[in-house]
Amino acid sequence: MNKAKYLDVASFDRPEFYEKLENANREAGHRPIQVLSETFDMISTVIKLISYMAIILAVPNMWWMALIMIAVSIPSTIINFTYRRKTVNYMWRRSKERRQMSYYTDLMVNKDMVKEIRMFNLSDTFIKRYSDVFNVYYKGLRRLICSEYAWHIGLAIIHSAVSCLFYVLIALKVMNREFEIGDFTLYTGALASISAAVGSLITHSAHIYEGTLFIDNLISFVKEEQTVVPSVETPCSVDHGAPHTIEFENVSFSYPGSDKKVLKNISLKFRPGETVVLVGLNGAGKTTFIKLLTRLYDPTEGRILLDGKDIKEYDTTELYKTFGIIFQDFGKYAASITENISYGNISKNVDEEKVKDAAVQANAQIFIDKLPEGYDTPLMRYFEQNGTELSIGQWQKLAIARAFYSDADILILDEPTASLDPMAEQEIFNQFDALRQDKMTIFVSHRLSSATIASKIVVLEYGELVEEGTHKELMAKGGKYYELFSTQANRYIESMEEDSQEK
Ligand code: ADP
Repeated sequence: MNKAKYLDVASFDRPEFYEKLENANREAGHRPIQVLSETFDMISTVIKLISYMAIILAVPNMWWMALIMIAVSIPSTIINFTYRRKTVNYMWRRSKERRQMSYYTDLMVNKDMVKEIRMFNLSDTFIKRYSDVFNVYYKGLRRLICSEYAWHIGLAIIHSAVSCLFYVLIALKVMNREFEIGDFTLYTGALASISAAVGSLITHSAHIYEGTLFIDNLISFVKEEQTVVPSVETPCSVDHGAPHTIEFENVSFSYPGSDKKVLKNISLKFRPGETVVLVGLNGAGKTTFIKLLTRLYDPTEGRILLDGKDIKEYDTTELYKTFGIIFQDFGKYAASITENISYGNISKNVDEEKVKDAAVQANAQIFIDKLPEGYDTPLMRYFEQNGTELSIGQWQKLAIARAFYSDADILILDEPTASLDPMAEQEIFNQFDALRQDKMTIFVSHRLSSATIASKIVVLEYGELVEEGTHKELMAKGGKYYELFSTQANRYIESMEEDSQEK
């Protein structure tokens, strides 16, 4: 979890990252303890082995038997170590299958997915996919285990034959009266114990070896480099509370592992206190633009400047604090209403009054008042019997309240109002505009009615900046914005006409 705090967001776009994460996550809990306990077991076995060796070596002409007993264990050691490495490699390589299996399992028990899976009758499809992957995964593992045990059976037969031979030799010595009758038990017992101790020494050391291979992977995950770090040795701090300017200079961007340019050569400037609305069709690159602005990703080309300095020169925590952002897929936390809102500004103690103000501003007050325990109502039903489930629109209002609660200088709403009706959306935008106190605000919206309040509208199309200006300017221009706006306006007018005809 501590490592996760500093991972690049871009890491979550790479399958090989998930491979490392899954391997590390699976082993982190028990491997170090296992290596430690096996080490203690090994020490105790070594002590036992030395004691039994002392018994055998004290007897003339018996030392070679002990050495042969040890020598016949060598092939078993080699097999053990070889198969431990093979198992580790197999487990490592098959991370994808394990992730697929847990993905299908999670789908089947995921609260948000259960409705759709039931209605489309997808359960059997996913169970079948799980079984297919399971069969491939365990077939390989079974093959590995069977071949290892075939070796062990062969070696155990050789081992037993050697032991039998030695027992016969000792028995002969008893019959020749070289040994007492009681010596038979002592010496065969000592040889058997040496054999058992060597066996367990091999097993323990092989497990330690296997454990260290897994721990190597854990270490390599922990060493995963963070790339979104300040580019200068002494990072600058943001002048919080001051008006801010943002500038994109020839910014282009492709997601990691992809050549497709999602943003192409964007250059624009946002001045202090501006209300910017980013518009464009789905997939135009609006969210990506926000992700670059907030430095969740670094541009592939070009620079982004905050107050004249490259955002890479700022301390990242400081930079993140500058933005109060509500993403399209905003967070829903299994915590109380108060906590859900106050997470907007975690650096300060919870201010109950401010939480309530934020709820009022986001129009969330009405439904919160109706909840059994008001602001203390626990949300979601994962942990508490009295946990409450909210509707998506109510969750959205809480997310918006979180943005209102934040002290951030630049407020960003990335289509957080998609589950609200157009009137409620307009109301939220107006509220934001009224309460922003000269702070820069950036809205990403599908519905262009909200763009009319903007001091700057930025139109993106297929990752390119196609138009920039106020509503009036862009309407007068008759370009892409005019086209989008007219289409939406016509749709509203048509549906209003249909409504009135029905009435
Ligand atoms: P918008 O917000 O305008 O709907 P996005 O910025 O979310 O658009 O997406 C722009 C393009 O980037 C889309 O083609 C989408 O498929 C792609 N994209 C978004 N996120 C990722 C990602 N994590 N990895 C690869 N491609 C992505």
